[in-house]
Amino acid sequence: MPIYDISLTISPAMPVWPGDPPVKMTQTESMDSGAEYNLTRLDISAHTGTHVDAPHHFLNDGRTVENLSLDLLTGPCYLVQLPDDVDEISAEFLERTSLPDGLLRILFGTRNSKLWAQGQNQFQEDFVAISEDGAEWLVAHGVKLIGVDYLSVAPYSDSVPTHQVLLRAGVIVLEGLDLSQVPRGFYDLYCLPLKLAGADGAPARAILVG
Ligand SMILES: [Zn+2]
Repeated sequence: MPIYDISLTISPAMPVWPGDPPVKMTQTESMDSGAEYNLTRLDISAHTGTHVDAPHHFLNDGRTVENLSLDLLTGPCYLVQLPDDVDEISAEFLERTSLPDGLLRILFGTRNSKLWAQGQNQFQEDFVAISEDGAEWLVAHGVKLIGVDYLSVAPYSDSVPTHQVLLRAGVIVLEGLDLSQVPRGFYDLYCLPLKLAGADGAPARAILVG
């Protein structure tokens, strides 16, 4: 069974959401400088690279990341690969796209993943995202985990509605995936966000098996 690593590599060069702190990795102990061991200090936002959003991120409701259901974060998952000319994942688009019935977990591969494959380190505002009515469509169809391949599930200019619709419905939002190397199909998803007390999100290692 092949294992696809769909996580971004965390590094100071990677793009972050405008206004979020940049990734800092500092060598606080260095064997090259005579220390007995190497030690790295990490200074990042909870929404760095591949990460999960908890409801608290947009709802301020105390539903924080350490309590997200591992039952939802792991299990069968469908990856759909959308053509490069898709600009927005709307209800109208989802309605005319043939997706398998009864999906609990779905990942959307879009042209965004090419940015990761190309090593594009500048933040891009025109990424493909899910519109508010697209989010409503997914909730109405029983989806409980949604993964996207850029740093937000929502369009750059309109972050709030899509997040609120999904998080209010208890949907786990997985952002910042690199889906450039994985064909469309069914897999087992393993997504394990860091267990950060009281946090609105957490970086995660995510893999697809199958
Ligand atoms: Zn986030």
